[in-house]
Amino acid sequence: MHTSFTQEQLQDPTVARADQMLRRCVHCGFCTATCPTYVLLGDERDSPRGRIYLIKEMLETGKVTAPVTKHIDRCLSCLSCMTTCPSSVDYMHLVDLARERIEKSGTRSAADRARRAMLARVLPSPARFRLALLLGWITRPLRGLLSGLGLRRTASMLELVPAGLPHLKLRRRKTVIRTSQPPQRRVALMLGCVQEVLAPSINRAAIRLLKRHSVEVMLVKDESVCCGALQHQLGREEEVHKAARRNVDAWSTALREGKLDAILVTASGCGTMIKDYGHLLARDRGYATRAAEMSQLTRDIGEFLYALGLLPPLAWTSLRVAYHSACSLQHGQRIDKEPRALLEQAGFTVLEVPEGHICCGSAGTYNMLEPELSARLRDRKLAHIASVRPDLIATGNIGCITQLQRGSLVPVIHTIELLDWATGGPCPKPLQHLKSKVHPIDALMELAASRDASASRPNAGRRRIF
Ligand code: SF4
Ligand code: SF4
Repeated sequence: MHTSFTQEQLQDPTVARADQMLRRCVHCGFCTATCPTYVLLGDERDSPRGRIYLIKEMLETGKVTAPVTKHIDRCLSCLSCMTTCPSSVDYMHLVDLARERIEKSGTRSAADRARRAMLARVLPSPARFRLALLLGWITRPLRGLLSGLGLRRTASMLELVPAGLPHLKLRRRKTVIRTSQPPQRRVALMLGCVQEVLAPSINRAAIRLLKRHSVEVMLVKDESVCCGALQHQLGREEEVHKAARRNVDAWSTALREGKLDAILVTASGCGTMIKDYGHLLARDRGYATRAAEMSQLTRDIGEFLYALGLLPPLAWTSLRVAYHSACSLQHGQRIDKEPRALLEQAGFTVLEVPEGHICCGSAGTYNMLEPELSARLRDRKLAHIASVRPDLIATGNIGCITQLQRGSLVPVIHTIELLDWATGGPCPKPLQHLKSKVHPIDALMELAASRDASASRPNAGRRRIF
């Protein structure tokens, strides 16, 4: 893409970086076909190519206009366009620069500013988020009324409040979970903020699973709370840098105390953010080296387990699992085959969901700020999932779990909880009614030994790997 920045403009390092990124785009338009907002709206300005053009115009003129803000706000940051782009345009960092510029311009309405400030303050703090959920739980029955009064965004936030009360106990002290055998790996587990309030069972399952695989787990004390991903999407870069520095300090202390093989993350949205700390703090002298080291060490838990090797399952299930590949995992971290392979190794029948590359509409704060588009994407995704008739949906990101569970007739479970269950952990609560479909492997092996081998395969006709 041709740019016409002046020499004076190019003195600004942000503009100079943007210029490099913009020039890579060759207008081919391949990215438009895989962009969820373009697929829904058919407007070039809601496609990656259109947005890139809008960003270029904004930086060249120095003007943040209402249309630019609108079309950038509609971007999910799903990064599907980056997977498709043959020219390796760094759209992720380009849209980050645009968001930051829009946020700093102060051109948003007072209501919009207040809404975004509230989200940036509440979501990353487990204590505030828990309180907000309690308030939401009390006022949830009013969501129809609020929607009728035109307060659609507030109503949509209440829609996201889970039916049960939020979890009250949060574990925030430094702990090392030792293994009974000499550990074969030593890792730190990032507990995160939102996930730990909405579904603490995910990290508990991860700890059990790791321990079973002789992996010693360190929980870093409360400096390591939010990774900054939520503020990042809101364009609040100062807060993001602060969160990143705080986490780098916490992990550095852990590293000094003993060698870590990896920093594990169970929410893929957070994993994508932490893997980018090296880039984020590259110009921060006090942190650049350590941040790059943190990024190098960070692994999605599925990625780590796949490399480690999953233990054989202790139970065999005939459950049909629709695997929903979170955008932050498949496009942000390019991890797609590993979680599917792990689920298959654990004995589940993994189903391919049509249009699997398209976002479910969760995207961090997107489902609260762009509720209509988000709901359309969710319904589209759920229709595709329903077409393969699964018993349940598995995914590796808390945002997707919350988003899909709202409209799904089948349970949505974190991949790690399923792997924990298959290898000896408890049955995830939403699947208790499906327990009868699970058989202990020992019993099946005995049955197999007592019959003709060809007639005794459990779930004959299904794939069995263990
Ligand atoms: S990040 Fe997603 S929504 Fe945004 S332009 Fe790229 S494909 Fe479209
Ligand atoms: S696919 Fe890449 S090069 Fe082609 S229009 Fe999209 S961003 Fe530009």
